[in-house]
Amino acid sequence: MTPPGWRGGAAAVATLTFDVDAESPVLAEGARFAHHLSTMSHQAYGPEVGVPRILDLLDDLAVPATFFVPGWVARRYPGLSSSIVERGHEVAHHSYAHKAPTAMTEREERDDFAMAMDVFTSQGIEILGYRAAMWGARWQTPELVAEHGLLYDSSLMADDRPYRILTARGEIAELPVHWSLDDWEQYAFLPEPHIGSVIESPLKVLEMWRAELDGMRHYGCLFNLCCHPFLSGRPGRIMALRRLVEYALECGDVAFMRCGDLARAVLDDQTLDARPLPEPPSYP
Ligand code: ZN
Repeated sequence: MTPPGWRGGAAAVATLTFDVDAESPVLAEGARFAHHLSTMSHQAYGPEVGVPRILDLLDDLAVPATFFVPGWVARRYPGLSSSIVERGHEVAHHSYAHKAPTAMTEREERDDFAMAMDVFTSQGIEILGYRAAMWGARWQTPELVAEHGLLYDSSLMADDRPYRILTARGEIAELPVHWSLDDWEQYAFLPEPHIGSVIESPLKVLEMWRAELDGMRHYGCLFNLCCHPFLSGRPGRIMALRRLVEYALECGDVAFMRCGDLARAVLDDQTLDARPLPEPPSYP
């Protein structure tokens, strides 16, 4: 019998998440970059080289994962989402055009959200959850997630354990993220557009993420790792990721889950806070 609660008796839960952004974040900075072959090739590396390599790694280590895919990317690479689902992993909603909700009007956000849902429906992909592009959720975003009948959001940072959010359209689980567990801050570099300017050592990144995992095992948290195939699919970096997962498996007290499965456990766990969304702070 599984012990009650979202961790199911584990010291920490790990969700390995891969945001398959491909060309979309660069094009969101300027449609003119579509004509820049080198930049497009740098981004296409994600779905073309990174994703197959990551799927093989997950097979080797027998751990499940969740891939957040923008609808635009799913449409541009028509076999991508099914290639992920066929290997036992989850595909989740990551906007259509990879524009942050905070950079859109409410109408634009609603249209973008629905457009991505239509792409996944047309490809026969079941969607359980959502992550805002750039983690740029608006105050209305959780309600939009609930309105579409999804189980969870994974864009907010109010805790390092999952919680339940009460919206006017129903309850969703929040699987919180943090910049310290995002490979973008470690590896993103392009001269133009400016998406980042660091190329850190994978050994440093491994050490940092392992320390975070140990802390989360101590405090009973969600280790919600966010990697991007165009960044972490590169050879030295994916070897560091392999060593991180091997370390977590050796610990023997870390449960690896797909986000959708975790969200169900969170919504069933009545010991977790159910938090109504407060009003935006009034300032000054
Ligand atoms: Zn993204």
